[in-house]
Amino acid sequence: MPKRARPGPHSTQPCSVVTGAAGFLGSHLTDLLLARGHKVIGIDNFVTGSVNNISHLGGNSHFKFIQQDVTEFIFLDVAVDYIWHFASPASPVDYLELPIQTLKVGSLGTHKALGLAKHKKARFLLASTSEIYGDPLVHPQIEEYWGNVNTIGPRGCYDEAKRFSEALAMAYHREHQVETRIVRIFNTYGPRMRLHDGRVVPAFLSQALKNKPITVFGDGRQTRSFCYFSDLIEGIYRLMLSDHELPVNIGNPAEMTVLEFAKEIIRATGSKSKITFKPLPQDDPKQRRPDISRARKHLRWEPKVALPQGLVKTIDYFRQRL
Ligand code: UDP
Repeated sequence: MPKRARPGPHSTQPCSVVTGAAGFLGSHLTDLLLARGHKVIGIDNFVTGSVNNISHLGGNSHFKFIQQDVTEFIFLDVAVDYIWHFASPASPVDYLELPIQTLKVGSLGTHKALGLAKHKKARFLLASTSEIYGDPLVHPQIEEYWGNVNTIGPRGCYDEAKRFSEALAMAYHREHQVETRIVRIFNTYGPRMRLHDGRVVPAFLSQALKNKPITVFGDGRQTRSFCYFSDLIEGIYRLMLSDHELPVNIGNPAEMTVLEFAKEIIRATGSKSKITFKPLPQDDPKQRRPDISRARKHLRWEPKVALPQGLVKTIDYFRQRL
């Protein structure tokens, strides 16, 4: 793969652009970058992001916010060192409601963000996803696995948008020598998730804290593995600074069934909720667990926060907002 000598940051203070900066992960990434001395330009159109996630940055002279849809041309008149492309709906409920916007941000938005990276000679990191593996037939998922995706199913808009994003990033890398990094993000949780985004962590926590029935989809035997946001963001930061040009899974390999997860939420919240079963959504992956050997080897990264520990802080956040 072609390599280009990296000139290093344009000034002593690196400048990062974060698309989706008002989202759950984009806002935590922004906080980490600011804490590590970056100037950050955040971009978000608030389709699924929230101003509450970045309001604490008001008055921070190292942070600039632009309200914009990243599918439109991105104009910046400053030098940029790193572009972190996080803009996208990320919950199955959201991308079911916003299929065209999801496809547009993954295709046109990624094109604009890569165009900016090329123009600014910045390094580009794509927030990709375990969804590119679809309903995986290889378990745990290794990066070499090509996936099992229903292109025309309800999740196809997200899965294919992210698969296209990966292909476009590699095309810019090969044809224009843009330095690209691809992280495949597995299920992640923590403060700043939207209470009603429909994903399993906010759904179960909101239900448990109100002592309402916990809605397990299907028989609850499908598996997921949950990574606390701080572990995830640290892994992504290391990937950006590494030389690794191929996709890297970042997630927590501690796998459990959704039914076990429901019981863990009831225990952690001390809730009186009972479990109720609802139909399994179409194409819901039956199993998901990252193989993180690549991250361990190349980034010296592995998650540190165990589920009970991460849930304590997440529950605090949800309690304050319900
Ligand atoms: N799920 C559930 N009840 C809910 C929401 C989700 O049982 O109220 C299940 C869902 O069917 C899936 C898992 O929890 O098997 C994780 O769903 P989520 O929407 O968080 O994201 P996914 O991992 O499917 O992308």
